[in-house]
Amino acid sequence: MKVVKFGGSSLADAAHVQKVINIIKSDPERKVVVTSAPGKRFSDDIKVTDLLIKYANAIIGKADPTQIVADIFARYQEIGNGFGVSTTVLDDIKSKLTGLPDKPYPNNDYLMAAFKAHGERLNAELIAACLTQAGTKARFVDPSEAGILLSDDPNSATVLEETYDNLANLKYGDERLIFPGFFGFTKDGQIATFARGGSDITGSILARGLHASLYENFTDVDAIYAANPKIVPDAHPIHKLTFREMRELSYAGFSVFNDEAIIPAIQGQVPINVKNTNNPDLPGTLIVPEKDFTSKRPVTGIAGSNRFSALYLHRYLLNKEVGFTLKILQILYKYGVSYEHMPSGIDDLTIIFDRSQLDSDTIKKMCHDIQTELHPDTLDWIDDYAIIMVVGEGMRARVGTIENIIRPLAEHNIPVHMINQGASRISIMLGTRQSDADAAVKYIYEHFFKEDPSANQIEYQTEV
Ligand code: ASP
Repeated sequence: MKVVKFGGSSLADAAHVQKVINIIKSDPERKVVVTSAPGKRFSDDIKVTDLLIKYANAIIGKADPTQIVADIFARYQEIGNGFGVSTTVLDDIKSKLTGLPDKPYPNNDYLMAAFKAHGERLNAELIAACLTQAGTKARFVDPSEAGILLSDDPNSATVLEETYDNLANLKYGDERLIFPGFFGFTKDGQIATFARGGSDITGSILARGLHASLYENFTDVDAIYAANPKIVPDAHPIHKLTFREMRELSYAGFSVFNDEAIIPAIQGQVPINVKNTNNPDLPGTLIVPEKDFTSKRPVTGIAGSNRFSALYLHRYLLNKEVGFTLKILQILYKYGVSYEHMPSGIDDLTIIFDRSQLDSDTIKKMCHDIQTELHPDTLDWIDDYAIIMVVGEGMRARVGTIENIIRPLAEHNIPVHMINQGASRISIMLGTRQSDADAAVKYIYEHFFKEDPSANQIEYQTEV
């Protein structure tokens, strides 16, 4: 049995939904289908999830939501009409949409979550109706029926382990089960959603919980590429990579597959196939457990992300001082800030943060506390920080990869502020200025994939 998930652009209008239905019908193993909310039809279109956020904000701000509701409903209506779905189904969608403000919510965060979740919930109901109309037995399954239990974080929830016991009891016969992605329920019965892009997570949870043989993730690109095609337009498609390679690449900016979503699939050891709804016969990219992978080249992919900032601290004899790092961590804890990496020297320490969790007030207070409690000789806040990840299982079997990463950067005069290799034996992390990040990705890519064939050879296959 396969779990198959379709992203928002694959469900943006009736023409795309027709492709989705053909894909589902063409393989009887595609039993469990996960839907996103209708996404963008063209580049400056608005996703239904974003319209629902506007709708929620209008209700919170006591503004008139009539036009927004009409815009949201029009998206479902266009799809439903394209399949001749009965007016009862569309009327039901409309009344659920207009009835959202009348439901009780513990607070506005839960209100927001419930509004957002209806993008997928109503779409799953509609797709089940479209499939039935097109002659394939299909049934909508609500996450409450399946027992998808989430933590009490209304808009960035995580899955609770009990979900997997609940899923083991889910019965399915000859019909396709149509699940809405992106949300579940707290133990108190409130709707909670994952972070944005979280329908991938639902697919992965179902793949693990239902012991699927494959999790197919349909999106709008032919494959995952070895570098971002916006930076390297002719980047090489990756046919196969491992779970942990994917995790490292998505951490540093590969956005095709949500980085959290890989975890349940890893726990269940379910391979993932990323495919294109518009080109379903292409093989796409297969993400597999390490045991099913033999690397053919040292580097599988190169990612870069600008979402970082760094704090640089210098103090003589830092290496001899007991408790220096502990005090820093206590200050971070006080402000609820997590750090990403902490490379250190003898007298120096750099702490790298994900910038999205920090506002300027927190940065100011944190730096002030560090200055007054730890008295560093130098304290620099570096807002202009990017991380480049060069990732490949094949690196473990090759000596000299670092040289091949650094050489193209040196040749193009790109300074490297940090190198981190060690904890993960399959990646090398570099810190650069944000303005250098794209060029760094491009030159490293060119070196490994175009210029120097020897940089691509794996010299021996034993683990080092
Ligand atoms: N519809 C949600 C979003 O736009 C979740 C998803 O599409 O995965 O973030």
